[in-house]
Amino acid sequence: MKFVSTRGASGVSLEEALAQGIAPDGGLYVPDELPKFRAQDFPDELTLPGVAEILLKPFFARSVLRGELAAICFDTFSFEIPIRVVRLPDQRETSVLEVIHGPTAAFKDVGARFLAASLSRLPSNKSRERPLKILVATSGDTGGAVAAAFHGRPGFQVYVLFPEGRVSARQQHQLTCWGGNVFAFAVQGSFDDCQRMVKQAFANDELNARYRLSSANSINIGRLLPQSVYYVYAALCHYRQTGEPLSFVVPTGNLGNGLAAVLARALGAPVGEIVLATNANKTVPEYLATGELRPRESIATLASAMDVGNPSNLERLTYLFGGVGELRDLVRASAFDDAAIRATIRDVERVDGYAVCPHTATAIAALQLMTEAPAPLTNWAVVATAHPAKFDDVVEPLIGRDVEMPNSLAELMGRESRYETLSADAMALGAVLK
Ligand SMILES: *Cc1c(COP(=O)(O)O)cnc(C)c1O
Repeated sequence: MKFVSTRGASGVSLEEALAQGIAPDGGLYVPDELPKFRAQDFPDELTLPGVAEILLKPFFARSVLRGELAAICFDTFSFEIPIRVVRLPDQRETSVLEVIHGPTAAFKDVGARFLAASLSRLPSNKSRERPLKILVATSGDTGGAVAAAFHGRPGFQVYVLFPEGRVSARQQHQLTCWGGNVFAFAVQGSFDDCQRMVKQAFANDELNARYRLSSANSINIGRLLPQSVYYVYAALCHYRQTGEPLSFVVPTGNLGNGLAAVLARALGAPVGEIVLATNANKTVPEYLATGELRPRESIATLASAMDVGNPSNLERLTYLFGGVGELRDLVRASAFDDAAIRATIRDVERVDGYAVCPHTATAIAALQLMTEAPAPLTNWAVVATAHPAKFDDVVEPLIGRDVEMPNSLAELMGRESRYETLSADAMALGAVLK
């Protein structure tokens, strides 16, 4: 299999697409064909690494990494992604797919670990003299996940750019507590500015001549492929138990996780409907409703990891599946403001004693809005994208109790934090890459 750019550049191998992140023409890499699976292609005993290995095999078919696929899947899916049943404020019960038990307590761990497991197995990345510089713009969770995945790996340096004052205190700590081969920068601007700076660095010939640059953002195909694995896994488990497809509600920002759900269904997994939930940054719901795409500056919300005004992966979604007419058949979407997020966090705690992060709250609000009570939600799963303890400053006052920190998170909080402040322009980034 080859990977082609959404803007037309010719195909590259999987390892090239992973290492480059973004295509030379500024486009995003997509597979040049989509294999089709049936439920019986997977064994009776389902495990995450096992499903991953079968699902990803065609994508690795002609890659130098194909002999390493099993090890890569094993490294990536080293933590549980359980489903639990939660009673919603409207009293209906639904499943929650908790992709929150990785080293940095957000779903971004999946993509980051896959990328690190893959890139560190490439012979070209064993050089200490010319390390691969991984640039990562983060709205809060990606940076920590990528830092955790690459920290201490020889041959790699990580440059984390986060928007100053727009990430939670614990997220910021998680971005800045690494040291060693991880460098953190507070950018005086929004996430969109961080993302623009990274894109400009990739478009800069001089920087590319001087350094080996790569990106670990959700624009990297190495984020997308492994994320489709947990949708396939959860849908297969549900299908085997009930004979029914499983529908998902996905908290959505840059649209990487939502696209992974669409991809899982396109690959043949028994996935039903896909609903995208956003915060007040409603570029995608508006596009589906009006047919008009109006990318804009992001606005700051409680669900800050979804503060994206110009979702990059829309380009991929459109390339793979078509324009707004086709997209309306693939997904539905709705947006929720901070008041709705607060009310949902409070109500889920009151009814079920279950704490959710602000991102997950948008998905719960969307599920209640877009499926009419009393219709049962037995064939639905909300995707929980971060542990509520990462957003204690928002969640704890609303639920009136402490949220217990997972051990991995508690350990990071004990480390010292260090970062530099950067102005929001590409020159500033170029200067610090030295
Ligand atoms: C990144 C993130 C999202 C948004 O995911 P996308 O793939 O960018 O759409 C949602 N929730 C949390 C907690 C995140 O960290």
